[in-house]
Amino acid sequence: MPTSYRNKRWRLVFLAVPLAWGFTEFKSLDVLPYWGFYGHRLINRMAVYTLPDEMFPLFKQEIDYITEHAVDPDKRRYAAIGEAGRHYIDLDRWGRSPFPDLPRDWTLAFLAKNPVRLLNVQKEDLGYYSSVDSFLIDFPQWELFLKDEVRSHLSDEVWTLDQWPDTLHLEGVSLVQIDNELMAHGVVPYFIPVQYNRLVHAFLDNDPKQVLRLAADLGHYVADAHVPLHATMNYNGQMTDQVGIHAFWESRIPELFAESQYDFLVGKADYIRDVKKFAWNVVMESNALVDSVLLIEKRLSQELPEDEQYCFEERLNQVVRLPCASYAAKYQQTMAGMVERRMQQSILAVGSIWFSAWVDAGQPDLRNYLTINWNARDKEAEELLEKAFRGGKVLGRPHE
Ligand SMILES: [Zn+2]
Repeated sequence: MPTSYRNKRWRLVFLAVPLAWGFTEFKSLDVLPYWGFYGHRLINRMAVYTLPDEMFPLFKQEIDYITEHAVDPDKRRYAAIGEAGRHYIDLDRWGRSPFPDLPRDWTLAFLAKNPVRLLNVQKEDLGYYSSVDSFLIDFPQWELFLKDEVRSHLSDEVWTLDQWPDTLHLEGVSLVQIDNELMAHGVVPYFIPVQYNRLVHAFLDNDPKQVLRLAADLGHYVADAHVPLHATMNYNGQMTDQVGIHAFWESRIPELFAESQYDFLVGKADYIRDVKKFAWNVVMESNALVDSVLLIEKRLSQELPEDEQYCFEERLNQVVRLPCASYAAKYQQTMAGMVERRMQQSILAVGSIWFSAWVDAGQPDLRNYLTINWNARDKEAEELLEKAFRGGKVLGRPHE
């Protein structure tokens, strides 16, 4: 990291206004959001205040954009197949920490986990397959085929998950059908570096709108990776009779306590040398917290009568059943402030990843970006996404 960014005094954050804003938004948007909309907006917003002087004016000018669009990836889960898997990873599906069999490299993970059916491939085309319309291939064959025939024809963008296909096409011909098990079990640590590279390129292209879009999105994925229940198969307590714990941890607790209790003075963005390693570290830390998240709640739920666990509250003229504030306080306290800590770490991580992308792009002068004109086409794209979100059904796992 450039030394000029090392010991600078970090910026003072004035919390009252953005927090008040965050709460009004939350209530008008979603009764039971899932970090929830509230948390994601808050994290992206606070991350702006970690940025160095060269980046701060642009992000401060566009802070409402960065805040509001922190939740686009969650809205896209209603619009795009393949979006859902970018928000989590079922790490425990690979055994126990430190998951020695889990490939950190996308191609190797893909090879290990996806049964593949070849379509319309002739022996003479490839040299080592017989001539049939469709057949399953085993791992060594697939590896050879992938390396020799497929990989070299695909751009990194396609290969690394963008619009991830069920079928791979090569020169207009459907070649490979994929039972995409890997995607279904989540790809967040594989996807963060992909999105990061896109952000670096947006800076290199001097494309301010794209920079802000990608920065807002990337903030979302980085924050999701910090949530313990985004790093386990038991993501909503469904395997341990704790259904609802996902929203309890990441929405209800921040909603109740962030404004009044949390300290968001997290320091200054730092340069991340290796984004891939960083993304993996974050999900590994999240996974290591899963046992506490589940076991502590389980114990409390067994110690306390049910009427001290669930309360009824009125939201948008509806009475909803929610974990009681006193129960949430007890849970939070017994977890020794884990929710606050993960939120603080998310804020610093989001600021740091934005900052690193800018550094890796050669620190372009962002004063040239300040005359952004969001136009009718941008508005239209937003409205389309909003429509899909309001009217739709999640394509994939409902609780990330
Ligand atoms: Zn998400």
